Amino acid sequence: MPGESLRAFIHALPKAELHVHLVGSAGVDTVLALARRHPEAGVPADRAELEQFFEFRDFDHFLKVYWAVQSMLKDRRDIRALVIGLAAELARQNVRYAEVTVTPYNHLLDGMPGDELLTGLVEGRAVARAEHNVELAWCFDIPGEKGVRAGRETAVFALRERPDGLVGFGLGGPEIGVGRAQFEPFFTAAREAGLHSVPHAGETSGPATIWSAVHDLGAERIGHGTSCTADPALLAWLAEHRIPVEVCPTSNVRTRQVPSIAAHPVRRMLDHGLVVTLNTDDPPMFGATLEGEYLAVATSLGLRAAEVARLAKNAVAASFLEDAAKAAMAAEIDQVVASGTGAEA
Ligand SMILES: [Zn+2]
Repeated sequence: MPGESLRAFIHALPKAELHVHLVGSAGVDTVLALARRHPEAGVPADRAELEQFFEFRDFDHFLKVYWAVQSMLKDRRDIRALVIGLAAELARQNVRYAEVTVTPYNHLLDGMPGDELLTGLVEGRAVARAEHNVELAWCFDIPGEKGVRAGRETAVFALRERPDGLVGFGLGGPEIGVGRAQFEPFFTAAREAGLHSVPHAGETSGPATIWSAVHDLGAERIGHGTSCTADPALLAWLAEHRIPVEVCPTSNVRTRQVPSIAAHPVRRMLDHGLVVTLNTDDPPMFGATLEGEYLAVATSLGLRAAEVARLAKNAVAASFLEDAAKAAMAAEIDQVVASGTGAEA
């Protein structure tokens, strides 16, 4: 499929994003507003300077940008600004639905009252729906590096507050030295309360972490799952049990888990029949967009239009949308394929 028609086709597909971190989704416009509101944080309040600060250099610099944004989140207005900024960007790419990872423990640790966080989420979500026609849902995740205390407090907060749209319970941060199993009680409590288990696993460590996510945390989807291809039995198991993987290709290249998109194990995942979904993780900070991820994977794997549409449908099927909403989105994807957008493919 020639570049321009492929681009148009990808844009026309109604898309779902299942793996994006709220803090990591902050774009330059949003951060500019935050920097002007919180000059004490020392983040550039000049656009050109901020754009330069935002440019991806290496993983350490990414962490610096991420924590600089985190440090400016003080109250509901800041959270609301993040959510609305994300929704506007999703709308621009024809992304209709996103499950957004929020890490309440980090905000509470920084001194933000829980009510402020929740109100910011609720207000932002309402604006996303009304002004951008984007439906948002939340996944509250545990910052794994902060240990079982973070696990307990995240579970307590999630289950006590249970805001509208909270669908998932996750686990992020480093994997090496942060065993998944220690968080089992919190995942059990969250699952018993009806939340879906969506831990990161196999991003920065091997297949054993993915097995643990499945067995100990009852993972219904795997965040990243990059290393699953190193274990044929795991590949077969994920395919057989239809456990989707939230693949974030550009993120994996940026963090040097894989050398390039062309060398990404996504090809092997697809060859083995896994339910592959494409996602962005921390998009502006990695210089990624969801459309860009589809384009990069479609181009490097030489996918046909129907295969690209299949990826979009996988994300809808793997989402925690209601069945009727899933069916409506899937039907719309079929219509885009039938309408012949990018027909020369
Ligand atoms: Zn992530």
